[in-house]
Amino acid sequence: MIPVNSPLLTGNEKKYLKECIDTGWISSEGPFVSRFEDGVAKYIGRKYATACSSGSAAINIAVRALELEKGDEVIMPTFTIISCAQFLVTNGIKPVLVDSNYETLNMKVEDIEAKITSKTKAIMIVHIFGLTVDVDPVIEIAKKYNLKIIEDAAEMFGQEYKKQKCGKFGDVSIFSFYSNKHITTGEGGMVLTDNKYIDSRAKSLRNLCFTSDRFVHTELGYNYRMTNVQAAIGVAQLEQIDFIEKKKRWIGYKYNHFLENLKNINLPLVKTNYCENIYWVYAITLKDNYFKTAKQVMSELKDKNIGTRPFFYPMHKQPIFNKMGLFLDDKLPNSEKLYQQGLYIPSGLALTEIEIKEVSLALYKIVN
Ligand SMILES: *Cc1c(COP(=O)(O)O)cnc(C)c1O
Repeated sequence: MIPVNSPLLTGNEKKYLKECIDTGWISSEGPFVSRFEDGVAKYIGRKYATACSSGSAAINIAVRALELEKGDEVIMPTFTIISCAQFLVTNGIKPVLVDSNYETLNMKVEDIEAKITSKTKAIMIVHIFGLTVDVDPVIEIAKKYNLKIIEDAAEMFGQEYKKQKCGKFGDVSIFSFYSNKHITTGEGGMVLTDNKYIDSRAKSLRNLCFTSDRFVHTELGYNYRMTNVQAAIGVAQLEQIDFIEKKKRWIGYKYNHFLENLKNINLPLVKTNYCENIYWVYAITLKDNYFKTAKQVMSELKDKNIGTRPFFYPMHKQPIFNKMGLFLDDKLPNSEKLYQQGLYIPSGLALTEIEIKEVSLALYKIVN
């Protein structure tokens, strides 16, 4: 079986984990947590970082740290993970959805401005699969209309937009360290900002909003703390980020080479004029006139013991949101087509050249 993802834990992970056990520091109070936060903040170039229990938790913290209120609107892509829309909805905020560019898979930045109303308070940008959002025009719009930017950089640790690290562009930016992300802590996330007040809110929300009067609360937060054990793995992973980034791109280039003669699929863009693909996952789409659906191709790859994942199911089609009366009139056809025709193939850091060849050969048999 070639799994869709398998992490690589070949650095100091074991050594630092042993340190946790030898010292007895396993909770969130241990020293690796702030070491990991400081390391990430420095690497990305941000002032403040708050480690937390997942990327989804980080999104919830980000939304609440910005003090968005019931009835506010936030513009975001429809083609993303549920977490992005979920924590707007559960906080009473209305997501306003934008369709995808079919080639970059990212939100159509040119569609944002038309969606702005007097209630719009923020734009959530989400870098998808390997290429970044075109950030500069978003910053321009945000300035013009006095909007905040939330940046979901979960899939882009180490990636750059015009030579600046992703995770640098939001009033609040977030990462996930789930096991398929570039650096992992098993489960984990982080909230980054340059604003001291937002940072203090993030740290409070992460820890049940305890006050200096310990058990007296003026606001409701969460237990979203990251453990020292998770952070120990994170510190070891961060030490290897240069290698990880190179390996990701190497996997992408190998697939590009092996798959270049496959006529029925579109390969991912190698670059745009603002970034080079980092291939967080190797995402392909079936050509429009090809008779098989992504579901069929995924099932045939599974029969050959090759793991895949479908693309995101667009937010405006989610049964749960439709049941709540949301997005019923949205027409965002590119994202729907991406779901029908897209899939991603094994892309984990432990992938070998032989496995990449095997996956490619299987694709030639199934898709030609
Ligand atoms: C993985 C991911 C998340 C969620 O992270 P978890 O740690 O799994 O909660 C959020 N946004 C994007 C774009 C992701 O890829």
